[in-house]
Amino acid sequence: MGEGDRRSIDSTRDGTRERQRVLLLCAGIIVLFAATDRVTLGYFAWRPLVVRLLWALFIVATALNLRGAGRARTRELMLALAVFSTAFYAALAALTGGVSSPLFHWMLALPVAIAVVIQDHPAAIVGSGLTMLAGGLGILTAADTAPALCWQWAGTAAIMVMLAAYISGSYGRLHAREAALRRAGAEADTRARASEAGIAARDEFLAIAAHELRTPLTSLLLQIDAVERAVSLSPGGILGEVERQRIGSIARQAGRLSGLIDGMLDMSRLTAGRLELNFDRVDLAALAREVAQRFAPDAAAAACAMKIDLPEPLVGLWDEARLDQIATNLIANAVKYGAGGGIEIEGRGGADVVQLIVRDHGIGISAEDQERIFRRFERASGQRQHPGLGLGLWITSELCKALGGKISVSSAVGAGAAFTITLPRRSPAAIESQKPRLPDMEPSRA
Ligand code: ADP
Repeated sequence: MGEGDRRSIDSTRDGTRERQRVLLLCAGIIVLFAATDRVTLGYFAWRPLVVRLLWALFIVATALNLRGAGRARTRELMLALAVFSTAFYAALAALTGGVSSPLFHWMLALPVAIAVVIQDHPAAIVGSGLTMLAGGLGILTAADTAPALCWQWAGTAAIMVMLAAYISGSYGRLHAREAALRRAGAEADTRARASEAGIAARDEFLAIAAHELRTPLTSLLLQIDAVERAVSLSPGGILGEVERQRIGSIARQAGRLSGLIDGMLDMSRLTAGRLELNFDRVDLAALAREVAQRFAPDAAAAACAMKIDLPEPLVGLWDEARLDQIATNLIANAVKYGAGGGIEIEGRGGADVVQLIVRDHGIGISAEDQERIFRRFERASGQRQHPGLGLGLWITSELCKALGGKISVSSAVGAGAAFTITLPRRSPAAIESQKPRLPDMEPSRA
């Protein structure tokens, strides 16, 4: 049984219990008002009391029968309740003075009262209306009332029945709308749970796949490294220039593959909150210079002139490997998306914070895309010519947060992009007090 079905059964049970409570209350009121019959008649009579007791018993029996009744059975019970209640009422009116009884004057309001108690059952109201017409006309005829007055009473009764049927229909529409809303809410909940389970399964699959791929790739990278070294040691050897270039290309592709797999591993660590940080004294300026140096061949291949403006040491307590990853991601993106233009790497140091800015003059990012690119697997639109998973900036943003900082972007389409990371220098005490944190699944744009 689905969650939605369970909820609908629960709400039906609640509705039945509520209806039973109202019916038992009505039965109590009917018995309590037995005292008014004595006042109306001026003496005690057994017959009205017996009618009231039978009526109350009938209501109690109906309330008990409602338990576990399906839709069709409930409809039948409500119809019987409306018809018999009207009949009992008419009998009471007849036994307490007929046309002159106060109960007879209130008889016209009976269908409306029944519509309020037995909501959304128009058939029951019509049944009660017909019984009321028969009972009322019977009382009027027994009192030798003029036919014109009888017609007038019947006309008023018909209007009251129509009003009651309208009230009952409105309740029905209202309840149907509420039920539809409840169903829609339950379906949305079920869908959200299914999609959460799907995301969890995807994350688990990515974590396992990345882990399994890492082991053979590490050995492959070592082999490629050994081959490259052997080739460089024998420049005049048996390998020609074309073969050397091919080995270089294999090394680059394997390096790219390794970067992608590392990204997947980082993603699974971050989503599982298993990121470990080793805080130490690091000079961000020296580190950024070193990373830029590493990218010099790629930048040259992409016709990017790199300008480094890191005049002073930018020292703080950070995790060096993670900081390297942040700088690597930003410079790699600048080379990838800023090909053919200049790249500037700047550093600024304040008393408590430092900033690293990586600026390129490439394709740029539209304002709408700037909202998304820091989320997992999100890429700016129209990026098919540049391969990528859309994970680098999410990881960078999460790492910045883990180091107590933030990342922001300033860009326009066709005008390049400048990514700025801002990190607190941090004191050892501040690091000590840092509690382990779970990263957000969808980081907000800094
Ligand atoms: P990937 O580069 O693998 O797609 P990233 O998370 O590093 O993933 O970047 C997300 C997206 O942000 C990229 O797909 C690209 O659309 C956009 N982007 C990132 N850096 C730049 C940049 N320097 N210039 C233009 N667009 C960029």
